[in-house]
Amino acid sequence: MYCTHCGEKLEERADICFNCGNDPKSGSRCCPDCGAQTTAEMQQCMNCGRRLKKMQQPNQPLESDKSKAAAGVLAVTLGAFGVHDFYLGDKSRGWTKLIATVASGGIAAPFMEIWSVIDAIKIFAGRRDDADGLPLR
Ligand SMILES: [Zn+2]
Ligand SMILES: [Zn+2]
Repeated sequence: MYCTHCGEKLEERADICFNCGNDPKSGSRCCPDCGAQTTAEMQQCMNCGRRLKKMQQPNQPLESDKSKAAAGVLAVTLGAFGVHDFYLGDKSRGWTKLIATVASGGIAAPFMEIWSVIDAIKIFAGRRDDADGLPLR
């Protein structure tokens, strides 16, 4: 590999660059695979095409890739079938609604719909996270 600070060729397992003294993997000025010059903004190396790891921003709050709008609309429109629960990864709640609606021949559907509208209100109020506990975007 190459030092991502100075482009020096290093042993594969090197923890410190003997040329510049930095952690060879922590920089953004050279490609670790071919040593070509890169910038912090580049997504991949122009020379070899390697994907460059973006610098991590630990202070950024984690966020679900699922949106409030999509989950809320699904809850209002298809909530009786638990579609929004499946969307949020909450399969057990989704199956509960789906089975209740289908097994009752639709009789339970209005009740599941009411439950889903309550879900939608919680979703839009930002009080419902996805199954991983991440806030919806
Ligand atoms: Zn170096
Ligand atoms: Zn490269």
